[in-house]
Amino acid sequence: MAGRRRPANGGQYFDCDNPCTGEVWARVARGTAADVDEAVAAAREALSTWNGLKPSERGKLMLKMAELIDTHAPALAASEVRDNGKLYAEMLPQMRSAADWFRYYAGLADKLEGAVIPTGRPDMLTFTRLEPLGVVALITPWNSPLLLLAHKLPTALAAGNTVVIKPSEFTSASTLEFAELFAQAGFPHGVVNVVTGFGSEAGAALVAHPDVAKVAFTGSEEGGRRINQGAAADFKHVALELGGKSPNIVFEDAQIDAAVVGAIAGIFAASGQTCIAGSRLLLQRSIHDGFVGQLVDLAGQARIGDPMLPETHVGPIATPPQYAKVLEYIAIAKEEGARCVLGGGPYAGSGTSGGRFVLPTIFTGVDNRMRIAREEVFGPVLAIIPFDSEEEAFQIANDTPFGLAAGVWTSDMARALRASERLQAGTVWINTYRTGGCSTPFGGYKHSGLGREGGVEAIKEWVQTKTVWLCG
Ligand code: NAD
Repeated sequence: MAGRRRPANGGQYFDCDNPCTGEVWARVARGTAADVDEAVAAAREALSTWNGLKPSERGKLMLKMAELIDTHAPALAASEVRDNGKLYAEMLPQMRSAADWFRYYAGLADKLEGAVIPTGRPDMLTFTRLEPLGVVALITPWNSPLLLLAHKLPTALAAGNTVVIKPSEFTSASTLEFAELFAQAGFPHGVVNVVTGFGSEAGAALVAHPDVAKVAFTGSEEGGRRINQGAAADFKHVALELGGKSPNIVFEDAQIDAAVVGAIAGIFAASGQTCIAGSRLLLQRSIHDGFVGQLVDLAGQARIGDPMLPETHVGPIATPPQYAKVLEYIAIAKEEGARCVLGGGPYAGSGTSGGRFVLPTIFTGVDNRMRIAREEVFGPVLAIIPFDSEEEAFQIANDTPFGLAAGVWTSDMARALRASERLQAGTVWINTYRTGGCSTPFGGYKHSGLGREGGVEAIKEWVQTKTVWLCG
C-alpha cells in the first residue's frame, strides 16, 4: 500500500492452498476496515500527483508497466496456477493479454476530449470537461485474477483515477506481485494500492467507504447484488461483471467437427470456471445423437492433472467451496432426472492426490427448467438441451436470468444475423467461442451485470462530465 508492503492492522493472516495438491503455499494478510481507510487515504492523496502529470506521461508509465508485465508474465502466471489451479498454458497468454490492455489504454490517456457545445448564445462559450471520478475500488474474483483486474485498472488509470484493489481471498499472490511492478515502472506512490482480505470484511469496508467514488466488481451474481446495495447508500458509481449460463447453439447446418471442438472448449476450458462458459449446449434434434457421441468421445480423452504440465487439458477446481458446489450440482442434476453420459464425479487418477479434481461431466435429456440449466455451476458440467426449430432455440437460449454470452454454430449467414439480433447477451459468437480482447466491449445483459469493459467507449465509464458556461 502506498508503495510498500505491510502486515494488516489486525495482525492476522489466512492460508491459501494449491488446488492441485491441497498444500498451503501462501499466508496472506487479513485486511481490516482500518487497512481500507489507510489505502483509500493514500489513493486520495495521490490523486493530485497523478492528475498533475500530463496525460501522455501517464500513458508512458502505463506502457512501461505493460513491458514489466510481459517480462514477469511467467512468474505471475505460475503464481495464479498455484492459487487457482488453471492451466499454465492458459494463464501465460492471459498475462500477455493483461499487458495488451495496458498498452491499449495507455494510448487513450491523452485522447479524452470534452466538447464545445453550440447553445445559440454568442456571449457564451459552453464546453465540457471529462474529469476523473477520484478514488475507485476494484474488486476481483479468483478465476482469472490479473486478466480481470486488467479489464478495469488501465482504463481507470488512463482516465486519471487512483485505485484500491481488493483481490479474492483465494488468489491474492499474483495481485501483490503485480502491484510491486508499479513502483518499478515509476508510478507515484499511492496511485495503485492493494488490500488483501475477505469480501465480508475488507471488501465490504471498501464498498462502504465514503471517499470511494466507484466500485468496479467482477464476481458472482450474489456478490454483485451485495455490492450494488452497499454502493447505493451514497450513490457510488457501480460496474458489475457477473455470472452466466451461456447457451451454445448448434444447428443442423453447422460444420459439426468445428462445433464439437467449440462446445468442448466452451465448457471444459479452465474446468468450466469461467463466466462465459457455454454451459448449456442446445442441439438441433436431427444431429443430437451423433453430436453427443462425438462430444463424449473427445471429452473422454481429456488428460486431467497437474495444470503446470503442457500435456494437461483439465486442471483442478480452484477452491474448497467451489469443489463442493460442483459436486452438489452433479448430484442435483442426477436427482432432477438428467442422464449422465460422461464423468459425473470426482477424479482421483495418478498425480492428483490431495487435489480437487472433477471429471468432465456431460448431461443429456436436460430440460431448461431444471436447476442444472438455470443456475451457474462454474465447473466442468455441460447440460445438453435438444430443440427442433430456430425459434425454439432462441426462446430456450433467452429463457435465463443471465445474459453474458451466447454461441451459434451455423453455415446459414441469414440465420447467424437473426441470432445476433435475437439473443439477449452482451457477446454473441458465431462459429467461434471464447474470443475477445481489449478493443471490444464486454459485459452482461440482465443479471450478468452492468457496464462495459474494453474498447474506446469504456474509458467514459471512468470519468464524470462537467459542463462549463463561460460568459465573456
Ligand atoms: P465472489 O462474488 O464470491 O467474490 C468476488 C470478489 O468479491 C472477491 O474478491 C470477494 O472477496 C469479494 N466480495 C464478496 N462479497 C463481498 C462484499 N459483500 N463486499 C465487497 N466485496 C465482496 O465471486 P468468486 O467466487 O470469486 O468468482 C466467481 C464468480 O465470478 C462467478 O459467478 C463468475 O461467473 C463471476 N465472473 C464474472 C466475470 C465477468 O466478466 N462477467 C468474469 C469472471 C468471473
